[in-house]
Amino acid sequence: MANLALTGGKPVRTKIFPQSNTIGEEEKKAVMKVLDSGNLSQFVGSWNPDFTGGPMVKEFEKNWADAFGVKYCFAVNSNTSGLYSCIGACNIGPGDEVIVSPYTMTAGAIAPLIYGAVPVFADIDEDTFCLDPKSIEANITSRTKAILLVHICGHPSEMDEIMRIARKYNLKVIEDAAQSPMAVYKGKFAGTIGDVGIFSLNYHKHIHTGEGGMIVTNDPAIAEKVELIRNHGEAVVEGKKTKDIWNTFGFNYRMTEMEAAVGIEQLKKLPGLVEKRIANAEYLSDVIGKLPGITPPVVKDGCRHVYYQQTFKFSSQITGIHRNTFVEALKAELPTMVLRENTPIIGSGFAPPLYLQPIYQQRLHKCSFNCPRYDGIVSYERGLCPVTERMFFEEVFTHEFMRPSFSKSDLEDVVNAYNKVYENLDELKEFESKKTVSA
Ligand SMILES: *Cc1c(COP(=O)(O)O)cnc(C)c1O
Repeated sequence: MANLALTGGKPVRTKIFPQSNTIGEEEKKAVMKVLDSGNLSQFVGSWNPDFTGGPMVKEFEKNWADAFGVKYCFAVNSNTSGLYSCIGACNIGPGDEVIVSPYTMTAGAIAPLIYGAVPVFADIDEDTFCLDPKSIEANITSRTKAILLVHICGHPSEMDEIMRIARKYNLKVIEDAAQSPMAVYKGKFAGTIGDVGIFSLNYHKHIHTGEGGMIVTNDPAIAEKVELIRNHGEAVVEGKKTKDIWNTFGFNYRMTEMEAAVGIEQLKKLPGLVEKRIANAEYLSDVIGKLPGITPPVVKDGCRHVYYQQTFKFSSQITGIHRNTFVEALKAELPTMVLRENTPIIGSGFAPPLYLQPIYQQRLHKCSFNCPRYDGIVSYERGLCPVTERMFFEEVFTHEFMRPSFSKSDLEDVVNAYNKVYENLDELKEFESKKTVSA
């Protein structure tokens, strides 16, 4: 008789997990007020007071600046457009290289390409999965202009070391903090330590406005450029009497008044939502982390992890089964979707190494890798970042059972599922060996 759900047994739980809906009466009221005003976006792409947006956008930016302790904030329509703005604002162009992470969401490596620069992939740290400072330094050339790092899964990057390297080589540091709002590195918020940082407000993040992003910086020159790039900069540089107009041609990356109104309310909820995530994650790490062959997320000294995802490492040496088989067994024990979402909340590997995507493998971009101004040699070979590949193909699995909507009894179901798979490892080994033979 099969015990595991994967092999035909009864699953630990079939009842769908509660959705993490952070939108409540406050957001509804705020949006209704904007709708009643009829002013859904006050932005205009010419040099007049509305160039910087309407009252909700401005209030949202001011509140964000206060919450994160930064001088300048710019609301944009996504973290992706925020990343593009920041690359532009750092004066990056053809012939330049930007050091990026292979273990992240795709936009983090495309951003340099938008401005004709070449993304150079450094490898990650095997504990935090953020860029490894040693690999960053090893990849610096005379063409390197910036480091675009990611505070991945909710853990901050090794900022002291990265800032030291950046100063040594005169590089800009752009922090993608999409997954790490209110993560802390040695007393400072992730995203506020380098030259410029970007947060995401898309539906899947800690707080959201549907789609959206927020750029933060203390550098007036970067601030001026980001503001121009967000909103058709070329049309206003004359009126604004901008001296340095390099890369200031603009896009429409503007946030609407409705999104900003939602964002103002969401920001108030952020500290509480983060705390709930941490409490849930710590409980799960404690219990699940005791299982042999499972390493729970590492939290480095002086750091606060905010758990966009909960990352575990799985040892097939210790357990005798492949990570993917384990994850399949776990998935079968629990509902892995939540209401109105089709992305599984448990998965193997996290993110495939970005350099294996066809755009890098085939170098399908004219002015960047193939630009006559580019005299470097960049590699996108399989094997380029061995730690990243090992994490993706062999060791890491993630889940989102630490979401704020999960109650104690939901978490207990999760723990029971892990325990059950462990109690039936022999059954699982047999399943795996049959699968391998038939494959
Ligand atoms: C979500 C995410 C992005 C993209 O954010 P959008 O707001 O969807 O554009 C970029 N980088 C990381 C690390 C992310 O998690």
